[in-house]
Amino acid sequence: MGRWDAVIDVSNVCWSAHLPPLGRRAPRWHRLELVMAAWRERHGDGVRFDLVADDSLVRSLDDVREFRRLTGSGALVTRPVADSLILERARDRGLHVITRDHYVDHRTEHPWIERTPSRFHCWSTEEGAVRFAPLGIRPCSRQTVSAAREGKDLKQARLDLRNPRHRRILETRWRCADEECVQAAHWQDQLLVWPSLNRAGDAMCPSCRSPLVGLGPRDPLFEVVVEERTSGAEITRFPLEAGQPVVVGRGAALKGVDLALDGAAHRDALKKVSRRHLLLHMGADRRLSATDLGATNGTDVEYRTESGFQAPKAVRPGKDVFLGYKDRLVLGGAVTLRLSGRRFSTMAESAHPSRPEIDGSETLIG
Ligand SMILES: [Zn+2]
Repeated sequence: MGRWDAVIDVSNVCWSAHLPPLGRRAPRWHRLELVMAAWRERHGDGVRFDLVADDSLVRSLDDVREFRRLTGSGALVTRPVADSLILERARDRGLHVITRDHYVDHRTEHPWIERTPSRFHCWSTEEGAVRFAPLGIRPCSRQTVSAAREGKDLKQARLDLRNPRHRRILETRWRCADEECVQAAHWQDQLLVWPSLNRAGDAMCPSCRSPLVGLGPRDPLFEVVVEERTSGAEITRFPLEAGQPVVVGRGAALKGVDLALDGAAHRDALKKVSRRHLLLHMGADRRLSATDLGATNGTDVEYRTESGFQAPKAVRPGKDVFLGYKDRLVLGGAVTLRLSGRRFSTMAESAHPSRPEIDGSETLIG
């Protein structure tokens, strides 16, 4: 293997809105070609690539011919979740890794990640040209790693919304009744984050891991995705139920959704978020509104049009702004909030068939 041979996280590349067409959140095969060409230009035509993708990529890819040709010839390998194979290949073959994923949930099995951060490379597009930069792997605490693993476990379970048991869990409003639970105090009367699943497949508190108490059926349910604005890296996701306004902010003293709860890897961006930053409310009429609660670094709204996000508009503190399903909020200039586009078939929802259409192209993310 040559000095600059690399394994490419193909799903990560194809989905990346940091590659042309910029800002477009749908997987494009051409993005992989751009990345390979840019790497060759920088490190010579002799470099070789290991290509690894998630099985699910082909279902939403714009052009599957080349994908099928490469999987047919064995040049591209797929797995239900590609991460483990990517890291094993990089470790065993001494390859560089081209990805924007920090693999926080794999740090225990792959301690070499933190020992050799220079092997991880991410991309950006500057004036139409693809550039590489160090990914910026930083050491993570054991707590962060285990939180990331739990998040991944739940994510995998969540992929199967057809599982009746998981669907029942999603359709239920939960409360952690453990008096010792640190997080339950912040959520007050109900769980404001996604429940975890125990080995038996029952809902448990993601903080103290005790069984949750069901409070009855949920109203129509949505999911908010929180990302770093500059890198697009996902910080967390949380549920948003119609008619249940939540305060979003940062820090342990908050009564609401604490974005920093599993965001240790995103400390710099989260620093710009105030303790009580924003009130988020999905109305019974499915209108999403946000109110800035006087946050130090302010809140902007970015409306989405055909050509991408418009210039940010400042939100006046205390004043409601209404958002469409594709618009996003920017907290302190550093952290974005948007709806995920995942569909939750709750009983309450089927009673309201007039739900506005949400772009289905994002349903396969995470
Ligand atoms: Zn708890």
